[in-house]
Amino acid sequence: MSQLDRRSFLKLSSATLIGVTMGGVSLNAVAQEAVKADDPVAVAMKYVAKSATEGQMCGNCMHYAKDAKGETGGCAIFAGKLVAKAGWCAGWAKAA
Ligand code: SF4
Repeated sequence: MSQLDRRSFLKLSSATLIGVTMGGVSLNAVAQEAVKADDPVAVAMKYVAKSATEGQMCGNCMHYAKDAKGETGGCAIFAGKLVAKAGWCAGWAKAA
């Protein structure tokens, strides 16, 4: 492989890596949809988008991971989906 070919290869490899990484980020963003009321896990865990339990909500649960929007976040129980910051489910555990 000549010097020029090696440079071209490295540029192409870098561009491909960036493209794959960015593609993965956007796929993750698309894949994150809100948990629906009829989601089998939501039903089993008694998830509600607005907590009726005093002092307990997703926003102060140890399983909650706030997202950039601030009103929703990820949850270890609902992998790949978003839960409401004001929500609640039977898996609630106080954040440390
Ligand atoms: Fe909300 Fe339940 Fe997830 Fe805690 S475990 S963040 S209460 S959905």
